[in-house]
Amino acid sequence: IYEVDLIMGEQITSRQIYDRVRVAVKHASTQGAIKYAVYDIALRDMVLSKTRMEESLVNAVENDEFTMHLQPQYNMITERIESFEALIRWNNPNYNHVSPVEFIRVAEENNLIVHIGQMVMEETIKIAKQLETYQVSVGMNISPVQMVQRGFVQQFETLIEKYDIKPHSIAVEITETFMVSSLQLVSDKLQSLRKMGIHIHLDDFGMGYSTLSYLKDLPIDVIKIDKNFIDNITTDKYSKGIVNMISSLSKTLNVGVIAEGVERDDQAKALIKAGISVIQGFMISKAVPFDEAVKLLEKYNQKRTKSNKEE
Ligand code: C2E
Ligand code: MG
Ligand code: MG
Repeated sequence: IYEVDLIMGEQITSRQIYDRVRVAVKHASTQGAIKYAVYDIALRDMVLSKTRMEESLVNAVENDEFTMHLQPQYNMITERIESFEALIRWNNPNYNHVSPVEFIRVAEENNLIVHIGQMVMEETIKIAKQLETYQVSVGMNISPVQMVQRGFVQQFETLIEKYDIKPHSIAVEITETFMVSSLQLVSDKLQSLRKMGIHIHLDDFGMGYSTLSYLKDLPIDVIKIDKNFIDNITTDKYSKGIVNMISSLSKTLNVGVIAEGVERDDQAKALIKAGISVIQGFMISKAVPFDEAVKLLEKYNQKRTKSNKEE
């Protein structure tokens, strides 16, 4: 919608009206159920900067501007890093500060995510292969848009063969944001990955809706409790109650749990009390480049191996 009569005294050509309507249409097409948008200057600026980002994303894929950083997932009982999550970073001075949440969403809107996702898969598998000697696995985030593409499962098969990697050295993190209409398709594909030996992690658990039914309908190995519940675990009885509930549910269902976004010692203690031992968060480390991840492994896991040998 472009309300021409609202802009007083402005000289406007039919071409400009057309362009403004196109801006509104572009935005409306990304709006899910509400398929309309009203043009105004704020909307124009937003759509323009998104268009610029889309163009930069196309170049970024071609110019290899993405890298994967690694954030450790640490077991407080065994005092070992068990695994890492690979998180994408965009090395471009104009977009260094932009969160992956934002550029992944833009990439999802125009299927660029398929190219980015392929890169994420290959890079993560390459990294996981290099870390196999440390007996840690590496998880990657997979966008639902990528997952529903034809050939998704075969891509994994091809890469596993190419890099000669044990499938259980890799994990796939999925969020609950995928379209309910594709649930069966997503479920079938995840079943195939799992049969191959790849672990499936349900990311940001507790933040969407119908989260509990996803646990029933999808083959899940690990639940990742969203940072939101961890933030207030020591002060808010609801957060604490929910974390306790997820912990006992995981034991009944025999699935693993990782607590996301653990920043402080008191949160870690509260998690141990709730029966949760694997944490991911700034308390251990932020996501770091490969070489630093290896240093973290040497710091946390090597001493354990040494004392094991002494035993
Ligand atoms: P996520 O998969 O839930 O990843 C966890 C996010 O929480 C990461 O943000 C991580 O840096 C951040 N985080 C971890 N511990 C802490 C903490 O203690 N405090 C705080 N404040 N933050 C913490 P990041 O890297 O900015 O990624 C954000 C989201 O972008 C991810 O959420 C994921 O949904 C998406 N994403 C990242 N990399 C990829 C990717 O390669 N592919 C896809 N499809 N999505 C990705
Ligand atoms: Mg994740
Ligand atoms: Mg998460």
